[in-house]
Amino acid sequence: MKILYRSTRGKDTEAVSASQAILQGLSPDGGLYVPTALPKVDFSLDELPQLGYQELAYRILKLFFNDFTESELRSCITAAYGKNFDTPKIAPLSYYDGKGYLELFHGPTIAFKDIALQLLPHLMTTAAAKHTGSKEIVILTATSGDTGKAAMAGFADVPHTKIIVFYPKHGVSYIQEQQMLTQQGKNTFVFGVNGNFDAAQTNVKKLFNDSQLTHELAENGYQFSSANSINIGRLFPQVVYYFYAYGQLLHAGKIQPGEKINFSVPTGNFGNILAGFYAKQLGLPLNKLLCASNKNNVLTKFFNTGLYDKNRPFYVTSSPSMDILISSNLERLLFYLTGSDPTKTAAFMKELEEKGSYTITTQMRTHLDSFYANFASEDKTAAEIARLFASDQVALDPHTAVASRVAKVFQETTQDQHFTVVVSTASPYKFAQAVLVGLHDPNAFIPGLEAVEALQKRIGVPLPPTIARLFKAPVRTKKIVEPQEMETAVKEILSIK
Ligand SMILES: *Cc1c(COP(=O)(O)O)cnc(C)c1O
Repeated sequence: MKILYRSTRGKDTEAVSASQAILQGLSPDGGLYVPTALPKVDFSLDELPQLGYQELAYRILKLFFNDFTESELRSCITAAYGKNFDTPKIAPLSYYDGKGYLELFHGPTIAFKDIALQLLPHLMTTAAAKHTGSKEIVILTATSGDTGKAAMAGFADVPHTKIIVFYPKHGVSYIQEQQMLTQQGKNTFVFGVNGNFDAAQTNVKKLFNDSQLTHELAENGYQFSSANSINIGRLFPQVVYYFYAYGQLLHAGKIQPGEKINFSVPTGNFGNILAGFYAKQLGLPLNKLLCASNKNNVLTKFFNTGLYDKNRPFYVTSSPSMDILISSNLERLLFYLTGSDPTKTAAFMKELEEKGSYTITTQMRTHLDSFYANFASEDKTAAEIARLFASDQVALDPHTAVASRVAKVFQETTQDQHFTVVVSTASPYKFAQAVLVGLHDPNAFIPGLEAVEALQKRIGVPLPPTIARLFKAPVRTKKIVEPQEMETAVKEILSIK
């Protein structure tokens, strides 16, 4: 089966190959690329416990990226998942509190975005080599904290690429900002934006859709691409660890072959959990995907009432990577809910743009039964950190704690008996101060790197090398722009008048 990619919004837009979709990021009509058919895995799930992460990644990604040759895809995968992770398992599963915790924070930036962003630059440069006459790739990215650093780390000094990152000035943790400001690489650029994540993301999307700017770029030998989670080169690598977790559960004898399980996913832009949804389509036995939100619980409301409404207060929380009111990847789910109807999807997205809200039909809601949605307040998140430390001597980062709390409430209120895996998206050291607050530590008032040291004393887990390095790395000068100055900033970097 030859899969192509088409836009969620465009009726007549031509379908493109995987490599073209990876290079373009976003479809020219503003929609997101979706595969024209959904494959099933072509191996037996009984094989899963024997497959290493890289082999499994190959078997799954070849279904989606089918204009890459076997050797191209395998060499991308080998380069992405090696010594840059601190465990050969890449995504190990731990067991606490009767649940599995899938640790996606063993890469260079100690958060889950590494899994996709260590691979994406290799996919992109391979894709670019397939299309002759292709230009220097300019990666433009808005980040709620983790994508920015992970993308900079992935693209640093990759030939024929530049990466420009925008983050909300007051919306990221101290460690996240330090990680970005200490990134090496002549082709990496980073700006704080005087606004929240949605302001940064909306303006990045505007730049992408600005045909005048695209033209000026082309004249100067550049083309934009996106490292945001809307890129299929980021989305599909995330499908792999859902299968990998299942294999580890089989291996440990926690489940029987074919048994359905739940995943609780701390959700922001809806990329991670959407990958879980694709895993289910591919044939993974899933019962429920638990969509876990923080106080910015737009998605909880959407799943429980059918109303998506971003007209509401925006909160800065202890889980900043989930402080999002416009979850971009939800558009792909919406597309499937409409029965893959681009006209209907486009109409919903137009309503969102114009009114800031839309309501799906009762008929569409009947297709949401793979999901359960709930949220954790700041207090409950902190309490969950304390609870797991008391019961299992493990320190959860606040994002993981949100998902852990939602899983607990789900189990208690529904009496569901399926094995549940909490997707653990960051190391506690990345959000040290918030973890100290959760633990009622007397040092919880200490900000910055000293919080990391205080947390280390408290939990005794060795510091990941990437955090240890922050203590002595040179820091670049902070540059701050207003949202409306982002275009000028980009043009200056590319020397476009
Ligand atoms: C990005 C991120 C999330 C949210 O993932 P989405 O794919 O945007 O839903 C959750 N936790 C952490 C630590 C993240 O970096």
